[in-house]
Amino acid sequence: MTQNHQVVRRRCPATPPRGSYAADVTTTVPTSDSPRTCGPGVPAVLADRPLVTLTGAGVSTDSGIPDYRGPNSPARTPMTYQEFVSGAEAQQRYWARAHVGWSRMGSARPNAGHLALARLEADGSVRLIITQNVDGLHEAAGSQRLCALHGRIADVVCLACRVVTGRQAIAERLTELNHGWLEQHGGAVSRPDGDVELTHTDDFVVPACLSCGGALKPDVVFFGENVPKDRVQRCYAAVERIGDEGGGLLVLGSSLTVMSGFRFVRHAARRDIPVVIVNRGPTRGDDLATVKLEVSTTEFLTALAAETR
Ligand SMILES: [Zn+2]
Repeated sequence: MTQNHQVVRRRCPATPPRGSYAADVTTTVPTSDSPRTCGPGVPAVLADRPLVTLTGAGVSTDSGIPDYRGPNSPARTPMTYQEFVSGAEAQQRYWARAHVGWSRMGSARPNAGHLALARLEADGSVRLIITQNVDGLHEAAGSQRLCALHGRIADVVCLACRVVTGRQAIAERLTELNHGWLEQHGGAVSRPDGDVELTHTDDFVVPACLSCGGALKPDVVFFGENVPKDRVQRCYAAVERIGDEGGGLLVLGSSLTVMSGFRFVRHAARRDIPVVIVNRGPTRGDDLATVKLEVSTTEFLTALAAETR
């Protein structure tokens, strides 16, 4: 099935190569201290191919958003969907922590990688950006052909009537209902899930939906919750279409740990669609990749955009 999908990794040369790249691939796995010196060379397999991209947390680390699955990441214990819907106490705990986290996260801006990807999309090279990120930075960079697989942290949904409200409006209500909370907990330690470490949250007041009084939840897919089917189908269709057009799937900054993204890599490999993975550290899709590069996604995308100009 994937016999022609040989996993290759670029050796880190003293001088980053320019021009031709196919000859530079080797089976050498960079050591943990070497990838930073590795150039962002664009493999020949990507030349003149239309692409579907799948982006993960690694794309946003240069915007100051931690990659919770990257090397040396702290252990994380995100609230599951089941816990969130278990009752008011869990929702109080969630929103109390998330409110402080949001006040910090709001300042993140797209980095050069997001901007390069938006340019590649604008010139038609990238047909769809599938992202596992909820940070909204692809939109902020100007990307339009986008499927936010796990939703957007900037949206809040009512679990009863499904009305979606902008997060900023909810943040303002949270501030109003909890005077002094942000000031009091401004020094709390950030956690990888965009919230902060807080133990005592039982005096936090959580607003309800203004339309129906229902419980409000960020419109993102929690652990234990499924990605909406229409999104999944749209992404499968885009992968199949790119295969028909002789294109490829480019994975950027994801360890592919969760099935929600990994399934598209598997789908592409089954159809003999070339898969290029750019990620620092091993990924679940390495065995299915045509080429694997352990380099910065920001540098890689900048090089790719320059190459296709
Ligand atoms: Zn409602």
